[in-house]
Amino acid sequence: MFDVQKVREDFPILQQEIYGKPFVYFDNGATTQKPRVVLDTITRLYEIENSNIHRGVHHLSTVTTENYEEARKIIARYFHVENEKEIVYTHGTTDSINLVAFSFGEKFIHEGDEIILTEMEHHANIVPWQMLCERKKAHIKVWKMDDTGCLKLDDLVNLITEKTKLIGVTQVSNVLGTVNPVKEITQIAHKHEVPILIDGAQGAQHVPTDLSGIDCDFYAFSGHKIYGPTGIGVLYAKTKWLEEMPPYQGGGDMILSVTFDHTEYLEAPFKFEAGTTNYIGAIGLGAAIQYLRNIGLKEVFEYEDQLLAYATEKVKEIPGLRIYGEAPRKVSILSFLIDGINAYDTGLILDKLGVAVRTGHHCAQPVADHFGIAGTVRASFSFYNTFEEVDHFVAGLHRVVEMFQ
Ligand code: PLP
Repeated sequence: MFDVQKVREDFPILQQEIYGKPFVYFDNGATTQKPRVVLDTITRLYEIENSNIHRGVHHLSTVTTENYEEARKIIARYFHVENEKEIVYTHGTTDSINLVAFSFGEKFIHEGDEIILTEMEHHANIVPWQMLCERKKAHIKVWKMDDTGCLKLDDLVNLITEKTKLIGVTQVSNVLGTVNPVKEITQIAHKHEVPILIDGAQGAQHVPTDLSGIDCDFYAFSGHKIYGPTGIGVLYAKTKWLEEMPPYQGGGDMILSVTFDHTEYLEAPFKFEAGTTNYIGAIGLGAAIQYLRNIGLKEVFEYEDQLLAYATEKVKEIPGLRIYGEAPRKVSILSFLIDGINAYDTGLILDKLGVAVRTGHHCAQPVADHFGIAGTVRASFSFYNTFEEVDHFVAGLHRVVEMFQ
């Protein structure tokens, strides 16, 4: 049985008070808190084991290299990836997408080509493609969503042409919570022989993700959003692409041999991991994913679904509140506005009550534009949040309404 009180003991940061009130952290979409095991892993690494990887013959370098590669295997297993060499360490989702845009884009995207992106993408899955399109004189086509925050598969079919060279889609909208049918989308892309990149920044930590079943070409996520450290992330890419794509950055640790005339690169994933990588972060990420598996993925995801359902029902009691994002399949992200009350003011008052939410466009301005608003208040829940915290948050929203209306 999932025991939220027991789980909360694993997260030291949750034990504090803010302004003398119990700390309620509902900003998990921005970053998640870290369990003790991740903090202990990082401390142990710096206190006892720290040594640069891959290029030392001495004991600590060997131990750290083994742990770094073991973390790669843990990550591969979590996403049902058989070959861990398809897991490339990056700095995060943004870095992973930039890697694909620069490396895949340089080689495979040319003047007049088209890239299809959904209207609900985070800026991280828009701007790198715009930069590429400027360099290559290629074009972005937008796959629009409806007012509930859903994409229609037929619309995608109508957008694909023989010039389409890549489809980019978020697994989960960071504003609306929509879980997109990425497997079906991948099937459509592949039927038209178009590769697909999935932005998993909001999916990896909330929905079971079987990358071999989905069969996508690229998948990006960030360690800090899945209970791991900041500054580490992953790009999953199929071997056939990793072999064909040129390195994104050059430097140490990604080469086989260097002369002033010519450089031979290592095979993937190493040819994409130039310089000293965030090896402490990578091992910490492995610890985070192992922690998640140990408490039980099914239990975690079911509990988060229950929290979302409860919070959704409760906020509907608030007069004048509108929810943005009403897809049938959502993760625990709840965006809303209260009639006549600025999102920022709502966030500020909640903060004074000890409740951390995020306000604004959430780095997905086209979503706000779709609804003709400047932004929303976003409460995003994790498995360490409780029903009592939701009650406290909803009481806070009643206070906001009393103050402003
Ligand atoms: N994609 C989505 C859907 C996100 O929600 C985020 C961050 O909020 C990102 C990409 C960017 O992630 P990062 O800043 O960790 O690179």
